[in-house]
Amino acid sequence: MLISKLPNVGTTIFTTMSQLAADTGALNLSQGFPDFDGPDALREALARHVMAGHNQYAPMTGLPVLREQVAVKVAGLYGRKVDPATEVTITPGATQAIFCAIQAVIRPGDEVIVFDPCYDSYEPSVQLAGGVCIHQQLSLPDFHIDWQRLADAITPRTRMIVLNTPHNPSGALIDADDLERLAALIRERDIYLLSDEVYEHLVFDGREHASVLRHDELYQRAFVVSSFGKTYHVTGWKTGYVVAPPALSSELRKVHQYVSFTGVTPLQWALADFMAEHPEHISELPAFYQAKRDLFCDLLAGSRFSFTRATGTYFQLADYSAIRPGLDDVAMAEWLTREHGVASIPISVFYQSPPAGLRLVRFCFAKREETLRQAAERLCAI
Ligand code: PMP
Ligand code: GLN
Repeated sequence: MLISKLPNVGTTIFTTMSQLAADTGALNLSQGFPDFDGPDALREALARHVMAGHNQYAPMTGLPVLREQVAVKVAGLYGRKVDPATEVTITPGATQAIFCAIQAVIRPGDEVIVFDPCYDSYEPSVQLAGGVCIHQQLSLPDFHIDWQRLADAITPRTRMIVLNTPHNPSGALIDADDLERLAALIRERDIYLLSDEVYEHLVFDGREHASVLRHDELYQRAFVVSSFGKTYHVTGWKTGYVVAPPALSSELRKVHQYVSFTGVTPLQWALADFMAEHPEHISELPAFYQAKRDLFCDLLAGSRFSFTRATGTYFQLADYSAIRPGLDDVAMAEWLTREHGVASIPISVFYQSPPAGLRLVRFCFAKREETLRQAAERLCAI
């Protein structure tokens, strides 16, 4: 008889809601992806490299030119000098990077602390390594880490803590003080960090992204993960990277080489060209997405939803207690899609046990102005 290794895993909420949006013709503000294209120069570079014959395997760790560009970026933004040969690994998406980092260090019986609401790929990856996730809830309403509770949750079996900043789905950020507290907490312990920083460039209102790459002590035990898909508006390119000290990178690469061996070659060439030729792209991103957040929030101010503006990511949470207080968020997201033509993501699915009375749905504002206007108009009519 087949006994599932992942008995609790079904179809992800992203697939479910995007499918429902497609079936009902609703505006899809659920799954996180832009409804506009990546830069012309990036897409042209891809076509050029495909035609130039860059179509065979890239080196296992990623194309040297792209690893070099990542190292240049990390030095410029976070002041860390990393060796592209031993500390940067290109992966087919951040999801694969997360999986490989977890497999590289987690053994049966190890505990991994994750903060709920948490991204859906962490737990299955931990389970497949034989580990168990210990879920800590972020404190509401602003989704911050409760340091005392975290200290209490650490045991001799704790092997990893998973951070995600800017945070999906809440849009919250951790700051430099949080990193100091974390460093003090794990200093004497044998605990690794997985820092999911895929929204590193989507930070608003003049705030700074507190990357683990800025922190000397934490970096020594960290896998820092990012995604070109988010940064360059090409989520379908499924290309990401991990920055980690040489010893950790070496273990991660042992897994990566048997999960996929390498990433897609022409995509890596195109990204390397674009990064070299358009360094301004990343510095313009905060303002680009902040304008979308503000447009969406300004329009939503006329609705019965209540919200605090996201400080990062391209997601906006909205509280619907004034509209359908009796409806749980999964039912609410379905109702909004079917009856009002706007698809969202219920956030209870990111919890092991959601807090009672949670009435929040997540809207993705990585959308063209006309999509945001249409969505807001429908939401304001409720
Ligand atoms: N982590 C978080 C928090 C995300 O939102 C995403 C986006 N899907 C990922 C990781 C995975 O990124 P990628 O598409 O590059 O695999
Ligand atoms: N990260 C995206 C989101 O949060 C979804 C990615 C996926 O579908 N796996 O919406």
